[in-house]
Amino acid sequence: MKLMAARQQIVDYGLKMLTSGLTTGSGGNLSILDAESDLIAIGPSGIDYTDVSVDDVVIVDRQGDIVEGKWKPSSELSFHLALYRQRPEITAVVHTHSVYATTIACLNWEIPAVHYLVAFSGDKVPLAPYATFGSEELATSVGDHIGTYNALLLANHGLVAIGADMNSAFNVAEEIELVARIYYQAKSIGKPVLVEADEMKRVGEKFASYGQQDDASSSGPQ
Ligand code: 13P
Ligand code: ZN
Repeated sequence: MKLMAARQQIVDYGLKMLTSGLTTGSGGNLSILDAESDLIAIGPSGIDYTDVSVDDVVIVDRQGDIVEGKWKPSSELSFHLALYRQRPEITAVVHTHSVYATTIACLNWEIPAVHYLVAFSGDKVPLAPYATFGSEELATSVGDHIGTYNALLLANHGLVAIGADMNSAFNVAEEIELVARIYYQAKSIGKPVLVEADEMKRVGEKFASYGQQDDASSSGPQ
Protein backbone atom coordinates (compact mmCIF):
# COMPACT_ATOMS: atom_id res chain seq x y z
CA MET A 1 0.00 0.00 0.00
CA LYS A 2 1.17 3.52 -0.80
CA LEU A 3 1.77 6.24 1.80
CA MET A 4 1.71 3.98 4.90
CA ALA A 5 2.96 6.69 7.28
CA ALA A 6 0.33 9.18 6.07
CA ARG A 7 -2.40 6.50 6.25
CA GLN A 8 -1.44 5.78 9.86
CA GLN A 9 -1.59 9.49 10.74
CA ILE A 10 -5.08 9.79 9.21
CA VAL A 11 -6.21 6.91 11.47
CA ASP A 12 -4.45 8.22 14.59
CA TYR A 13 -5.57 11.84 14.24
CA GLY A 14 -9.12 10.77 13.38
CA LEU A 15 -9.29 9.03 16.76
CA LYS A 16 -7.66 12.06 18.37
CA MET A 17 -10.39 14.30 16.88
CA LEU A 18 -12.94 12.13 18.69
CA THR A 19 -11.12 11.86 22.03
CA SER A 20 -10.34 15.59 22.04
CA GLY A 21 -14.04 16.33 21.55
CA LEU A 22 -13.47 18.13 18.25
CA THR A 23 -15.98 15.98 16.38
CA THR A 24 -18.45 13.10 16.67
CA GLY A 25 -19.14 9.97 14.59
CA SER A 26 -17.79 10.49 11.07
CA GLY A 27 -18.09 14.29 11.15
CA GLY A 28 -15.19 16.31 9.80
CA ASN A 29 -12.28 14.90 7.80
CA LEU A 30 -8.48 14.84 7.52
CA SER A 31 -5.95 14.75 4.70
CA ILE A 32 -2.19 14.74 4.24
CA LEU A 33 -0.23 15.72 1.12
CA ASP A 34 2.87 13.60 0.57
CA ALA A 35 5.40 15.98 -0.96
CA GLU A 36 7.54 13.23 -2.45
CA SER A 37 4.83 11.48 -4.49
CA ASP A 38 2.54 14.56 -4.74
CA LEU A 39 -0.32 12.25 -3.70
CA ILE A 40 -2.92 12.92 -1.01
CA ALA A 41 -4.11 10.54 1.73
CA ILE A 42 -7.67 11.36 2.82
CA GLY A 43 -10.20 9.62 5.06
CA PRO A 44 -13.12 7.64 3.58
CA SER A 45 -16.55 9.30 3.49
CA GLY A 46 -19.09 8.58 6.21
CA ILE A 47 -17.20 5.94 8.20
CA ASP A 48 -16.90 6.42 11.98
CA TYR A 49 -13.34 7.24 13.05
CA THR A 50 -13.38 4.27 15.42
CA ASP A 51 -13.94 1.96 12.42
CA VAL A 52 -11.25 3.40 10.11
CA SER A 53 -8.00 1.47 9.65
CA VAL A 54 -5.04 2.15 7.36
CA ASP A 55 -6.46 0.21 4.42
CA ASP A 56 -9.67 2.33 4.52
CA VAL A 57 -7.73 5.53 3.79
CA VAL A 58 -8.05 6.68 0.16
CA ILE A 59 -5.09 7.88 -1.92
CA VAL A 60 -5.88 10.47 -4.62
CA ASP A 61 -3.87 12.66 -6.96
CA ARG A 62 -4.11 16.45 -7.07
CA GLN A 63 -7.04 16.23 -9.51
CA GLY A 64 -8.92 14.05 -7.01
CA ASP A 65 -8.67 10.87 -9.08
CA ILE A 66 -8.38 7.74 -6.93
CA VAL A 67 -4.96 6.11 -7.09
CA GLU A 68 -5.55 3.51 -4.35
CA GLY A 69 -8.57 2.81 -2.15
CA LYS A 70 -11.71 0.74 -1.79
CA TRP A 71 -14.02 3.49 -0.50
CA LYS A 72 -15.30 6.87 -1.71
CA PRO A 73 -13.00 9.60 -0.39
CA SER A 74 -14.33 12.28 1.98
CA SER A 75 -17.16 14.32 0.44
CA GLU A 76 -15.02 17.42 1.13
CA LEU A 77 -12.12 16.24 -1.06
CA SER A 78 -12.63 19.27 -3.35
CA PHE A 79 -11.98 21.81 -0.61
CA HIS A 80 -8.95 19.87 0.61
CA LEU A 81 -7.58 20.03 -2.97
CA ALA A 82 -8.43 23.75 -3.19
CA LEU A 83 -6.45 24.42 0.01
CA TYR A 84 -3.36 22.52 -1.27
CA ARG A 85 -3.54 24.58 -4.50
CA GLN A 86 -4.00 27.85 -2.65
CA ARG A 87 -1.33 27.27 0.04
CA PRO A 88 1.66 25.39 -1.43
CA GLU A 89 3.50 25.40 1.93
CA ILE A 90 0.93 23.20 3.74
CA THR A 91 0.78 19.40 3.85
CA ALA A 92 -2.21 18.81 6.13
CA VAL A 93 -5.88 19.79 6.37
CA VAL A 94 -8.14 19.18 9.39
CA HIS A 95 -11.90 19.81 9.16
CA THR A 96 -14.00 19.60 12.34
CA HIS A 97 -17.51 20.37 13.56
CA SER A 98 -16.13 21.40 16.95
CA VAL A 99 -18.97 22.86 18.97
CA TYR A 100 -17.82 26.36 19.91
CA ALA A 101 -16.20 27.22 16.56
CA THR A 102 -19.35 25.91 14.85
CA THR A 103 -21.53 27.97 17.18
CA ILE A 104 -19.74 31.15 16.05
CA ALA A 105 -19.98 29.93 12.41
CA CYS A 106 -23.76 29.49 12.89
CA LEU A 107 -23.99 33.16 13.79
CA ASN A 108 -22.04 33.83 10.55
CA TRP A 109 -19.46 35.74 12.60
CA GLU A 110 -15.69 35.72 12.35
CA ILE A 111 -13.59 35.11 15.49
CA PRO A 112 -11.74 38.36 16.28
CA ALA A 113 -8.57 38.77 18.37
CA VAL A 114 -10.42 38.11 21.66
CA HIS A 115 -7.39 36.15 23.01
CA TYR A 116 -3.81 36.17 21.75
CA LEU A 117 -4.06 32.45 20.85
CA VAL A 118 -6.11 33.46 17.80
CA ALA A 119 -2.57 33.87 16.37
CA PHE A 120 -2.73 30.13 15.61
CA SER A 121 -4.89 31.35 12.70
CA GLY A 122 -3.65 34.92 12.23
CA ASP A 123 -5.13 38.18 13.52
CA LYS A 124 -8.60 36.56 13.36
CA VAL A 125 -10.42 33.52 12.02
CA PRO A 126 -12.25 34.58 8.84
CA LEU A 127 -15.60 33.18 7.68
CA ALA A 128 -16.57 31.57 4.38
CA PRO A 129 -20.27 32.07 3.54
CA TYR A 130 -22.63 29.09 3.62
CA ALA A 131 -22.54 26.58 0.78
CA THR A 132 -23.77 22.95 0.73
CA PHE A 133 -21.35 20.43 2.23
CA GLY A 134 -19.33 18.59 -0.39
CA SER A 135 -20.15 21.11 -3.13
CA GLU A 136 -17.81 22.72 -5.65
CA GLU A 137 -19.25 26.05 -4.50
CA LEU A 138 -17.97 25.36 -0.98
CA ALA A 139 -14.55 24.29 -2.33
CA THR A 140 -14.21 27.51 -4.37
CA SER A 141 -15.31 29.59 -1.41
CA VAL A 142 -12.82 27.88 0.95
CA GLY A 143 -10.00 28.52 -1.54
CA ASP A 144 -11.09 32.15 -1.90
CA HIS A 145 -11.42 32.88 1.84
CA ILE A 146 -8.41 31.15 3.43
CA GLY A 147 -6.04 33.98 2.42
CA THR A 148 -2.93 33.83 4.64
CA TYR A 149 -4.87 32.40 7.61
CA ASN A 150 -4.39 28.93 9.11
CA ALA A 151 -8.06 28.54 10.05
CA LEU A 152 -11.40 29.33 8.44
CA LEU A 153 -14.96 29.11 9.76
CA LEU A 154 -17.53 27.60 7.39
CA ALA A 155 -20.89 29.31 7.92
CA ASN A 156 -23.51 26.99 9.48
CA HIS A 157 -21.06 24.10 9.21
CA GLY A 158 -17.72 24.05 11.07
CA LEU A 159 -14.01 24.81 11.00
CA VAL A 160 -11.08 24.14 8.68
CA ALA A 161 -7.47 24.22 9.94
CA ILE A 162 -4.29 23.82 7.91
CA GLY A 163 -0.61 23.37 8.73
CA ALA A 164 2.89 22.47 7.61
CA ASP A 165 2.18 18.97 8.96
CA MET A 166 -0.70 17.09 10.61
CA ASN A 167 0.45 17.91 14.13
CA SER A 168 0.45 21.65 13.35
CA ALA A 169 -2.94 21.57 11.61
CA PHE A 170 -4.44 19.61 14.52
CA ASN A 171 -2.98 22.11 17.02
CA VAL A 172 -4.59 24.95 15.06
CA ALA A 173 -7.99 23.19 15.21
CA GLU A 174 -7.66 22.59 18.97
CA GLU A 175 -6.45 26.09 19.87
CA ILE A 176 -9.04 27.83 17.70
CA GLU A 177 -11.77 25.76 19.34
CA LEU A 178 -10.47 27.04 22.70
CA VAL A 179 -10.53 30.66 21.47
CA ALA A 180 -14.06 30.17 20.09
CA ARG A 181 -15.18 28.88 23.49
CA ILE A 182 -13.59 31.83 25.26
CA TYR A 183 -15.25 34.23 22.78
CA TYR A 184 -18.65 32.61 23.35
CA GLN A 185 -18.26 32.76 27.14
CA ALA A 186 -16.90 36.30 27.20
CA LYS A 187 -19.79 37.48 25.00
CA SER A 188 -22.25 35.73 27.30
CA ILE A 189 -21.39 37.90 30.29
CA GLY A 190 -20.04 41.12 28.79
CA LYS A 191 -18.34 42.88 25.91
CA PRO A 192 -14.96 41.27 25.13
CA VAL A 193 -11.99 43.64 24.95
CA LEU A 194 -10.05 42.77 21.80
CA VAL A 195 -6.24 42.56 21.52
CA GLU A 196 -5.10 45.52 19.41
CA ALA A 197 -3.77 45.03 15.88
CA ASP A 198 -0.15 46.05 16.62
CA GLU A 199 -0.06 43.69 19.63
CA MET A 200 -1.37 40.82 17.47
CA LYS A 201 1.45 41.57 15.04
CA ARG A 202 3.95 41.26 17.93
CA VAL A 203 2.35 37.99 19.06
CA GLY A 204 2.57 36.63 15.52
CA GLU A 205 6.29 37.40 15.44
CA LYS A 206 6.86 35.85 18.88
CA PHE A 207 5.02 32.69 17.89
CA ALA A 208 7.42 32.19 14.99
CA SER A 209 10.12 31.33 17.56
CA TYR A 210 7.88 29.82 20.28
CA GLY A 211 8.64 26.47 21.88
CA GLN A 212 11.28 23.91 20.97
CA GLN A 213 11.85 24.69 17.31
CA ASP A 214 13.24 21.28 16.42
CA ASP A 215 10.35 19.50 18.15
CA ALA A 216 7.24 19.44 15.95
CA SER A 217 5.08 18.39 18.93
CA SER A 218 5.46 21.82 20.55
CA SER A 219 5.11 23.96 17.45
CA GLY A 220 3.10 27.17 17.56
CA PRO A 221 1.42 28.93 14.64
CA GLN A 222 3.15 28.79 11.26
P1 13P B 1 -17.21 12.94 5.07
O1 13P B 1 -17.58 11.81 6.00
O2 13P B 1 -17.66 12.69 3.65
O3 13P B 1 -15.75 13.31 5.18
O4 13P B 1 -18.06 14.22 5.50
C1 13P B 1 -18.04 14.73 6.78
C2 13P B 1 -18.18 16.21 6.76
O5 13P B 1 -17.79 16.84 7.71
C3 13P B 1 -18.83 16.90 5.61
O6 13P B 1 -18.62 18.27 5.69
ZN1 ZN C 1 -18.21 19.03 7.63
